[in-house]
Amino acid sequence: MKQYAVIGSPIEHSKSPQLHTAGFEEMEIDAKFEAIEVDPEYLGSWIEKDFRPYLQGCAVTIPHKTEILKYVDTLSDAAIKIGAVNTLYWDQGKIIGTNTDGVGALRAIQSTMPKLEKKKVLILGAGGASRAIIFALQMAGAYVAIWNRTTDKAQQLAEEFEAGFVEEITEEAFGLFDLVINTTSVGLKEWKSVVPSEYWSAEQVAFDIVYDPLETKFLSDAADAGCEYITGDQMLVHQALEQFRIWHGVTLEPEVMGNAFFII
Ligand code: NAP
Repeated sequence: MKQYAVIGSPIEHSKSPQLHTAGFEEMEIDAKFEAIEVDPEYLGSWIEKDFRPYLQGCAVTIPHKTEILKYVDTLSDAAIKIGAVNTLYWDQGKIIGTNTDGVGALRAIQSTMPKLEKKKVLILGAGGASRAIIFALQMAGAYVAIWNRTTDKAQQLAEEFEAGFVEEITEEAFGLFDLVINTTSVGLKEWKSVVPSEYWSAEQVAFDIVYDPLETKFLSDAADAGCEYITGDQMLVHQALEQFRIWHGVTLEPEVMGNAFFII
């Protein structure tokens, strides 16, 4: 039996086991997918003693996405540019670290906004998820601008990615964007948004990567203004579908994992 895992700390709320197990059942793959709590102090020894001898692949989540760069044999171009790894796989005896968060976000967006070339996108937040999404949107030809609570971080990220920088979210500046993406943790288990509700206009598209709850205040305000919107489960599911393709060479129908997301 093949063995896969997701590692993080804490890890008990991860949806990865149920998404991948649904894929195994659909494709009749004899494999097991576990959620494993790995203390940051033991990440290197876990890779050597547990991953190398026993596992065929691994998903990586907070807080290990950056630290793990040190322990893989080779990094994909996406992982280098994003500066974070969320997926480990084997190629010719080497551990490859890559990142499927950007692809996942892109596919989620393209189900509502298929053509991204020259679209103006405002990214709220400058953390790890923001980096992956900026990378993917620029690859798709979008014009990206970044706002962040800690202004210096947004400015640095904008310089690194040659993106635009928004110091303050004013109604006028906000109105310039076709798509606005919340990558901050604001809205996670709380009814708050970094965007004043009156700023939204109906022709804009809203995407919130927070998925607990699925309907955040950010999305609810956008929907009230008549905007189309994309929920955070779409990104999670599409990044897992890409992991599945890397590990098993199979492109699953999105509903297989989409339905599994809702299993409690
Ligand atoms: P991270 O690296 O810790 O970044 C957190 C970001 O949120 C930073 O930009 C931070 O701004 C901002 N922030 C936190 N509290 C804030 C506040 N009160 N007001 C304004 N901004 C605030 O986290 P991450 O890994 O990028 O993840 C961010 C969120 O995305 C989390 O909720 C996570 O669960 C979600 N996520 C979803 C998916 C998915 O597949 N749907 C994937 C990855 C992450 P400062 O720099 O000013 O601190």
